[in-house]
Amino acid sequence: MLTKITEQLERLALRTNPQRAAQLLGQLPQTAFDGLQRARFRQTLRLAAERSTFYRDEFRRRGIDVRRINHPSELGDFYTTGEDLHKHGSQAFLTGRPDTAFETTGTTSPVPKRVFFSNRELDEMGRASAVALYLLGLRREDTVLSAFDCSFWVSPAVVRSAFQYLGCFHTEAGKIAPLDFYEHAQAYRPSVIFGEPSWMVRLSEIAAERGTWPLKFMFAGGENIAESARETVEKIWSAPLYLNYGQTEAFGSLGIECRERCGYHRNDLHFIFEIDNANEDGEGELVYTTLTRDVMPLIRYRSTDVTRLVDEPCPCGLFAKRLAKIRARCDEMVVCGMGNVGPWVFAELLRGVSQVGEDWQAVISHNGRRDVVELRVESLGNGGANNVEVAVQNNLRERFADFWKNREMKLYEFRVTVVPRGSLRRARKLQRVVDERQMLLRRAG
Ligand SMILES: [Zn+2]
Repeated sequence: MLTKITEQLERLALRTNPQRAAQLLGQLPQTAFDGLQRARFRQTLRLAAERSTFYRDEFRRRGIDVRRINHPSELGDFYTTGEDLHKHGSQAFLTGRPDTAFETTGTTSPVPKRVFFSNRELDEMGRASAVALYLLGLRREDTVLSAFDCSFWVSPAVVRSAFQYLGCFHTEAGKIAPLDFYEHAQAYRPSVIFGEPSWMVRLSEIAAERGTWPLKFMFAGGENIAESARETVEKIWSAPLYLNYGQTEAFGSLGIECRERCGYHRNDLHFIFEIDNANEDGEGELVYTTLTRDVMPLIRYRSTDVTRLVDEPCPCGLFAKRLAKIRARCDEMVVCGMGNVGPWVFAELLRGVSQVGEDWQAVISHNGRRDVVELRVESLGNGGANNVEVAVQNNLRERFADFWKNREMKLYEFRVTVVPRGSLRRARKLQRVVDERQMLLRRAG
């Protein structure tokens, strides 16, 4: 009964204006939230068990009776992984008729993962995002210019839906070169800019040289940012840069920063979050279960991101609890100015390049302004280091148009370093991708 009332209240809240919605939701007692989560979880689990061939087969094979399960943690060692999406195909996860799909690049495979949604889900996520953006200060009077990449990426669709509820003016540039964007922006003078963090850094460098205009805030998603780079950007514009944390599988938004910029306020209305294999500080892999999806629900999906749940109240006073800043990724996948890169990307860059050995290592660092991707390869012969560099750069241009484009936009630096044979492997297993920026994030977080 309480759950039904809570659900009605939540629906009602999200249908009023964003300010009223935040107030109403903030007044709900924790027990009501917990009840709502449990009810939605049970509904989602039954739907998955009845209609998705993947979940039906897995639950049967493991002898899981979904009628007895009240919380994801009761599912033992059952998880859904990105690998499952690849192996079984998205169709095996469908529980309803989709209206649209978005894609995300894989970690260990060049094949994208496809995630399906309904327009109802898009609408609902838009409403929730509108509340979050309202709390950051976005209003009807604002002018938004967005440089989110519209190519198969979920975030532009979600924020477009949110803008409708906020009623603000918005124009989408797509992910064009920051200089182009800067020139177009003169006509709009946006008060709020949306873009990816590394792109925002480059735009800000241009603005520092050519002049800024008054901004309310900047909103970035798609990758993490070093705190030093954030400080530089904020100083140039005299405005805050807020980050969103999400994944395509989660329909864009798992959590969003507030004015405190101290972790992401998590979306507990739409997800149940768990931390797998937590260390003594509570840090481990983030696992989430979707609560309101009826086209492609995901049960205990492994995010491959390492973080912890923060249940203490935030100084900003918002009711939603938080996720700490993302510390690292569990796999060797790295999100940086180059794009989403994993070991297969570098293997492909080296395919056909002569005079280099089997061992190589990519090191991602940050020089205070932008990410630096250094590909270290071992020399096999007398071939000049220059030849190797030229061959790799050619492969980058020919095989990875997006990564090349980001390089042209100066969103990252890319170098090839040739080292003596046998110098890379120090252990039996060579770590292919090393993200040195994690040290930077750790200090800042
Ligand atoms: Zn807060």
